[in-house]
Amino acid sequence: MKILVEKTKEPKKKPSSEGLSFGTVFSDHMFLCDYSPEKGWHNARITPYRALPIPPSNMTIHYGQSIFEGLKAYKTEDKKVNLFRPAENIKRLNASCRRMCIPEIDEKFGVEAIKALVDIDRDWIPEEYGTSLYIRPFIFAADPYIGVRPSETYLFVIITGPVGAYYKEGINPVKIFVETKYVRAVVGGLGESKASANYAASLKAQVEAKEKGYTQVLWLDGIEKKYVEEVGTMNVFFVIGDEVVTPALTGSILPGITRKSSIELLKSWGYKVSERRITIDEVFEAHDKGMLKEVFGTGTAAVISPVGELNLDGKVITINNGEIGPVSKRLYDTITGIQYGRIPDKFGWIEQI
Ligand SMILES: *Cc1c(COP(=O)(O)O)cnc(C)c1O
Repeated sequence: MKILVEKTKEPKKKPSSEGLSFGTVFSDHMFLCDYSPEKGWHNARITPYRALPIPPSNMTIHYGQSIFEGLKAYKTEDKKVNLFRPAENIKRLNASCRRMCIPEIDEKFGVEAIKALVDIDRDWIPEEYGTSLYIRPFIFAADPYIGVRPSETYLFVIITGPVGAYYKEGINPVKIFVETKYVRAVVGGLGESKASANYAASLKAQVEAKEKGYTQVLWLDGIEKKYVEEVGTMNVFFVIGDEVVTPALTGSILPGITRKSSIELLKSWGYKVSERRITIDEVFEAHDKGMLKEVFGTGTAAVISPVGELNLDGKVITINNGEIGPVSKRLYDTITGIQYGRIPDKFGWIEQI
């Protein structure tokens, strides 16, 4: 499909690298594509970044038929632009489409759309190590109708924006509250889709954990509240003795691309990696026996986020003295090194624009 381009006549002022935060500044252009039952996906275009015309009867507002993705473009020292496994994001977008009754997009076309948009706004990619251009593809129901059924029309949109280095003063492990009251997802629900609704379900727990001084919550399974699932916007790993454990993808956990990449790296380094069910009690018992060496989250935003403290119903444990451990550090250095072109890309994960 050809992508029509309408360039902005009023380029915005770009922010400086220092003051960058996350999700507040957007680049000059956006990508749009429409879906109708008659034409399928059509009218692919890049336009200036602007508000969308949404009627109050828009189905997404009422019933939340909406999914998204998140990835980043990185500038290398020789000014090349790297994407990290973008086809994986489009594959996952399509998996979310299937669960949410949204028509899938062609995988190659999805990656092309991302590349075309990033290329037009390549001057928006900040250059300092650790900074990047965040890319947010999303699809939402577009019918003006307030009855409950899947929408017939959809909009596929991609917006981008420069984001700062996640760790400005080095990697400080985070404090995590183990959530035993609220649940995020159940098997058969939306947990393994990147559906906006999962975040709506998570807000209350997030707010209460923040009030108690915790950065995020660790979700347990929605039925027995016994098995570890994931952390806020990240998958979770435990280093127990010489085994690295991450919860198996049983249907209510988001299959992270950083999770998958971490497993592949750890295995290539000779670690014993187990994708299995793990109870929160096993984690705390491993700590009591002195076997719990590291806990960390994985996700596009922070890459690797070490966990320094866990609170389960008032029982607080400190992991690795609240410091980043060797496994977390090696994963962080390797993944970011590959993303910024400082380490050879042996796995073929990088697509250059
Ligand atoms: C996006 C997301 C992740 C991390 O996925 P990555 O592909 O590694 O960025 C983990 N958990 C949830 C709930 C997510 O939405």
